[in-house]
Amino acid sequence: MNNRFNKNQLPDPVCYFSAQGLNLIGGGEWRSAICPFHEDNKPSLRIRIENGAFRCLACGEKGGDILAFHQKRYGLAFKDAARALGAWSDHG
Ligand SMILES: [Zn+2]
Repeated sequence: MNNRFNKNQLPDPVCYFSAQGLNLIGGGEWRSAICPFHEDNKPSLRIRIENGAFRCLACGEKGGDILAFHQKRYGLAFKDAARALGAWSDHG
């Protein structure tokens, strides 16, 4: 059984995206930001701050949480992205 991934240890989406250099615009559940997946000249990326889901209205990149974002941005496998975000336990 694979119980090494702990979703609850993922960082807060607002903190995470800020640390990634994204400037979150707006004040609602969905924020806008410059998309890092294409040459964006206006904030095309929509981010749901509650769970880190994201969707780009210009290039179509999307995912359900910050783990998916981290995988896409750095080309990481699930396990490596989870480890990089502190949500993977190598012990236990
Ligand atoms: Zn994009």
